[in-house]
Amino acid sequence: TVLPTAPVLDLPVHLSGDYTASLVHLVEAGRGGHVVTLNAEMAMLAQREARLARIIRNADLVVPDGAGVVWALQRVGRKIRRCAGIDLVEAAMGPLARRRTRVFLLGAAPGVAESVATLWRERYAGLVLCGWRDGFFGPEDTEALTDELRRCQSEVVLVGLGVPKQEYWIEQARQKLPDIVYVGVGGSFDIWAG
Ligand code: UDP
Repeated sequence: TVLPTAPVLDLPVHLSGDYTASLVHLVEAGRGGHVVTLNAEMAMLAQREARLARIIRNADLVVPDGAGVVWALQRVGRKIRRCAGIDLVEAAMGPLARRRTRVFLLGAAPGVAESVATLWRERYAGLVLCGWRDGFFGPEDTEALTDELRRCQSEVVLVGLGVPKQEYWIEQARQKLPDIVYVGVGGSFDIWAG
């Protein structure tokens, strides 16, 4: 099913009554994709960063994170509720665990993603935390990282490198591994790790 969109600052936001279900469907479809949780800062940045705007327009699911984005939609008569990215990803883990989804965690300082993997393995029985890596790597590590994502058969990669670094990383990763669903999660790993 293709979701309708409404524009915010010329960027398409998908209109869904259940963003968690939309994300899970994207994973189930098995054809990969990019999920963007759009807030005001990111929308503003996209006004001067053409590359970021293009990536958002090409994303498969753009979720209204951020009160400003929701306000802009409601102002033009759209019935929409805010969906914070951090809550969306957490809510999806239960259903994704039930289908034994393979999830890779990429980003934050060394040790953080690993802590999240340890916590989630307990919390979401069935979820396959197939790998993790901190977000402080150079271009020379890109090939090894792509190989790792392929080798561990990742279906979902949560990318927490901050905006817009994560979106740019996702754009190049999709060219090599298009069947993965990538979700930009900003600083969420730091929060999940506690
Ligand atoms: N980060 C990273 N690699 C970098 C720069 C930042 O992994 O090269 C991580 C950082 O440790 C933090 C997250 O990216 O966990 C950025 O968090 P922030 O709250 O700034 O995210 P944003 O507001 O951009 O969504």
